[in-house]
Formats: sequence, structure tokens, C-alpha cells
Amino acid sequence: MSPRNPLSAFPLAFLLVLSFLPARAATNTADRLADFFQAGKIRALILSGRCNHDWRTTTPHLRQLLVDSGRFDVRVEEAVDGINAETLAPFDVLIMDYGGPRWPATTEKAVEDFVRAGKGLVLAHGAVYHFSGLSVLTDRHRSVDIRETPWTAFREMVGCGWDTPPPKGFHGARHTFPLTFTKRDHPITAGLPESLTATDELYQGMRVLPHAEVLARSHAPMSRGGTDQDEPMLIVNRFGEGRVFTTVLGHELAGMWEEAFRIPFVRGTEWAASGKVTLAPEACGPRHTTHSIRTLVVTGGHDYPTSFYTVLEGHPDIVWEHARSNADAFRGDLRNRFDVLVLYDMSANLDDVGRGHLREFIEAHKGLVVLHHAMADYQGWEWWWREVVGGRYVTKEEPGFKASDFRHDEWVAIEPAGPHPITSEIGPLRLFDETYRGVWTAPGIRPLLKTSNPTSDEVIGWISPCALSRVAVIQPGHGTESHRHPAYRKLVQNAVEWAAGRRQ
Ligand SMILES: [Zn+2]
Ligand SMILES: [Zn+2]
Repeated sequence: MSPRNPLSAFPLAFLLVLSFLPARAATNTADRLADFFQAGKIRALILSGRCNHDWRTTTPHLRQLLVDSGRFDVRVEEAVDGINAETLAPFDVLIMDYGGPRWPATTEKAVEDFVRAGKGLVLAHGAVYHFSGLSVLTDRHRSVDIRETPWTAFREMVGCGWDTPPPKGFHGARHTFPLTFTKRDHPITAGLPESLTATDELYQGMRVLPHAEVLARSHAPMSRGGTDQDEPMLIVNRFGEGRVFTTVLGHELAGMWEEAFRIPFVRGTEWAASGKVTLAPEACGPRHTTHSIRTLVVTGGHDYPTSFYTVLEGHPDIVWEHARSNADAFRGDLRNRFDVLVLYDMSANLDDVGRGHLREFIEAHKGLVVLHHAMADYQGWEWWWREVVGGRYVTKEEPGFKASDFRHDEWVAIEPAGPHPITSEIGPLRLFDETYRGVWTAPGIRPLLKTSNPTSDEVIGWISPCALSRVAVIQPGHGTESHRHPAYRKLVQNAVEWAAGRRQ
């Protein structure tokens, strides 16, 4: 070593300054991106995109579980190799649904530094043993031998794993078994029942490092190829200032559907991110609603493809029952049972009892959505089509009313007719549907949808002037092409929300 001279200190100082730059840049990145996250939510990043397990189905499920809890804003990274400290800076917690080759040194260091600095890391199932030097992977399409040098800091960070392949194999046969909480005063397990049921692979022979803590175990029965031991299933660890949660459950989507996976996973992610758990087990998916829009869907009198049953799918708050005829639907008082009626029937008649109940429902200011051929309902009940629906597909010519006509298999370019809560998120859309022409409409309807298709009336959706109830009419909806169209589904779901008074 040569004696130091004043000049040699200069580059050293310069390097020291440089070494502070990444941290400052990272902080700036978090600040700069703050507006792009939902305020007050935990920012979670799922690392995925490569695994011998089916990440293409499990990653979306993990994301949904976290989002549905209401506590997380979630992003997914499927090309993990390029991430660095700046990528991670805005996040509070990383979730590994990854199992593949080691990452570049920059990425591995960024993850280590992220956790060490006080943030969270969560591992599900197979993620626990990758980077251990043991894996030969099958990416579901082909085998990839990735036996490589273990990432030693990873083991320290996670606090558990396999040093060598266990003599009885990594797990026995998949079966249903209890996950028993052995440490019940940890924030993740506090208040949970003694055990939850799993249907999954039961990992065995894993070594838990002394500084890690086991929260739950499951017995691995010899009859299922197990070790006859109580194996560690949920593990927490501290790494620097950070928190790490591992669940070894979650072989595939079905396993991840079970509460033994869901509840600890969602609560464990909250703990890893924040050190606290506020989420009740009920918040740990699948989402259920406490403020449902109770909807009765009426069909009958006209055939339709079963795709119609999917139109209300995916809306978290719409729950619906189905009446297969108007006689079934209006046999009793509906006022206390339903908020909205969706008519997709084509009914010529309704007896006096049925009319009475339907009328009571409308007079109770409940909501009504009339779809497609239901525009031809009750030709002989003038109050219905004139006062309530505000329109009528005229099935047969009669004095003062020319018969309407229809045409199948038309491309219909549709635009919102003006601003309205039902169409506020709907732009122009194009449906392959049936058109109606010569539909009678009441004076005072508020147009919702219009088209310039020459085989169609111009206005093909409206709000009725009916003062008793919120009534929306949507003409399209003949077949599968519309039922499956995301914009059509959104339109109908918006109409149900609006009819329920939930969409202003
Ligand atoms: Zn597995
Ligand atoms: Zn039709």
C-alpha cells in the first residue's frame, strides 16, 4: 500500500458521495410516485412470472385476495430480473410467487436492502425453496435445470428452508389436514380459531433457523407419505428492521382458495408490511358484501342463451335471484325482499294478483331495469307501458300504433345520448345484436343510448319519466355476443346500481 497523498482522498470522497445517491434517488422515487397509489393503502408488489407452480393463475388470485381486503394497493412484476432499489422504493411489502433462477446481483441486493431497511417480505409455498441450490424446475412446459449457487442471504432473510433434499421427499400426497396454530399471541394468529383446514401439499423436513418463529404446524401422517412429525407451516422472521412471513401452503389455486391459506396470507402480508394486523378473517376473501343490491331477474316467454346468466357476474354488490316466469315472480309481495327488478321476460299477461304485487313494488319507489324483449311485456296493461316503462315494442298493429319490427345479426354502433350516471363510464360501443324499429316511446323519456344503424330506432335506451320509481330501459341484449361484451355488462350493472339508488 502506498502512502496516501491529499489527491488520492479526492476520488474516495467522490465515491462516498456517489454511494449515497441510490438511497436519495429511491426516496425521491417514492415521493414522486405517491400520487399514483391509492391513499392510505399498503403498497404491495407481487414478484412473479416464473415458477414450477402455476403462477399464471395463482398470482391474479393473490392480487385479488389482497385487493378485496380493502387494505392494499397491489402491483405485479412478471419480469423480476430488472428491478432495482428504485423499483422497490415506493412499496411496503413484496410477495414472492416466484420460483426460478437467481436474479442479477443488483436485484438480489435491492430486495435484501428493502427488507433490512424495515419493509416486508411474504413467501408462498414453492418460493421458500428457490434460491436454495436444490431446484430443478419445470415451468409447466419444459424442465429447466437451475441448480446453482444458493443465495445465502435469502435463507437468513426467510429463516427457513431445506439444506438438502429431505429423505422422505419435500412433501407427501396432497390431502386435507388441519393447520394448527401453535403460537396464538402473534398479531397474525391472535383471535383466530385453534386451527383452520387446508387441502394442499404438506411440506416436511424443513429447517427453521433459531431466530425465526413458527406460528402454525401440521401433522404429516405416514399414511400420506409423511414424516409422522408436526411440520412447520407458517413462519415469521426478522431480517434487519424488516419482517418476513412465510406460508408453505398454496400449491395451486384450489389450495389457495382454502381459508388455511387465505386468512394467514392476507393477515401475514399486512403484518409484514406494517407490523400490525387490523384485518378480520372475514376480510381475507373471497369478498362478501354487507350492502347487497338484492335483485330479482325475471325470464320466461322468450328463449335466450344461458350466457344471459353471466351479465351480472363480477359485480361485488349485486346478488340476484331468478324467477323463470312472471307468474312465479309476482306471486307474493316483493317489497321487503328486493331492491331492483330486472325484466328479461316477454310476457303477454299477468293476473290481477301479479299486477297488484308488481304495482306495489313500483309504488314503493323500488328500481326497475327493462332489458331487450321485456320492452314488449303486457301489451294489454296500458299503465305498465305508458306510465312505468315509458315505451313499448308494439307486437301487433292496433289503432294509433303501428307494429314495431326487429332485425337480427346487426352491428350496432352505440353512443351515450348525454351525460347520465348509467353511461358515465361507458364510451361508444359496438354490439352485434338485434335491432328494433318503430318502438313507441312516451313523451318525456330521457334518452340514454343512441345509434344511427338504419334498421334501428335512434334511441335504444332511456330513463322513463315515471315519477314513482327509477326505471331504466336498455334495448340491446339479444344474444351471447352482447351478454359477454364487457361494456354491455357494465351498462346493465350500472343500470341496476342506479335503479337501486346507488349511482348518482
Ligand atoms: Zn407445490
Ligand atoms: Zn331478441
